[in-house]
Amino acid sequence: MVSIKTYTGPVTLCRSCGQPSFTDEVIGHQHFNEQWDGVFCPHFPLAGERIDMDWDDMSLDQMRAEYPDTYPHQSFAAGPRA
Ligand SMILES: [Zn+2]
Repeated sequence: MVSIKTYTGPVTLCRSCGQPSFTDEVIGHQHFNEQWDGVFCPHFPLAGERIDMDWDDMSLDQMRAEYPDTYPHQSFAAGPRA
């Protein structure tokens, strides 16, 4: 899975949900791991049409630092699911 915090390629936006996205050569335009339970995108985990962003370094760094991580990490999944 790809993290928005560590991804070094171009961060784009998804036209369908307005949230950050990236493009993988194999899978294509898609969302980040942190957005697992957090974006309401009809295409998730893929993404809709791509919007290229002209971030300045500060805005991209701030978005990365503050973006909520809603992926269900194991520490939150206590015990087997019924
Ligand atoms: Zn989307």
